[in-house]
Amino acid sequence: MTLEEKKEALKKIAERISACSLCRLAFTRSQVVPGAGDPNSEILFVGEAPGVQEDRQGIPFCGPAGKFLDQMLESIELDRDKVFIANIIKCRPPANRDPEDDEKNLCWPYLKEQIEIINPKLIVCLGRHSMIRLVPGQGSISKIHGQPLRRPDGRIYLPLYHPSAALHNGSLRPIQMKDFQKIPQILRKIKEENKTETKVSKNQLPIF
Ligand code: SF4
Repeated sequence: MTLEEKKEALKKIAERISACSLCRLAFTRSQVVPGAGDPNSEILFVGEAPGVQEDRQGIPFCGPAGKFLDQMLESIELDRDKVFIANIIKCRPPANRDPEDDEKNLCWPYLKEQIEIINPKLIVCLGRHSMIRLVPGQGSISKIHGQPLRRPDGRIYLPLYHPSAALHNGSLRPIQMKDFQKIPQILRKIKEENKTETKVSKNQLPIF
């Protein structure tokens, strides 16, 4: 797809999300938060669900956790305009409660379509809910954070702690920063692998 085709396809998904009332969150949201960023990005960041600021502004990760995400992006010489940022759930759960299973299931097709359109090389799962949906059956986030995994769709997934967890738990911050620094190295490895067309491992990149 060309950039223009991607933009148009993502716009159409965002319009469908804006009109969506498939789950109960449609009746408590202020506005939807479909996702934002570069449709041609090699990296897609996927969080859990909009919070209070995101619900007010319609922009993903625009509150305190988003500022921390911006800092981490800056530390690897990226900014949010150069990546795409979305969530598993497109509407805010009231009082920031965890999303229910039926809400996650009903909202999943939107993200699935976004992934197909953007076609990222690397998907960074921010937090437990994102990890459970995108890399199921791998154990807890405390065990697999920072470990890149290849999924049957051929993409590489990197589970990380959610920025708000790292923001509110000082002991997680250095871990999160260290995990984040792996992103450029993983991208380089994916590009090398694509060049040589050698699949180095079925499940996990061997360099980490
Ligand atoms: S959370 Fe998803 S499925 Fe539920 S109303 Fe919003 S867009 Fe629709």
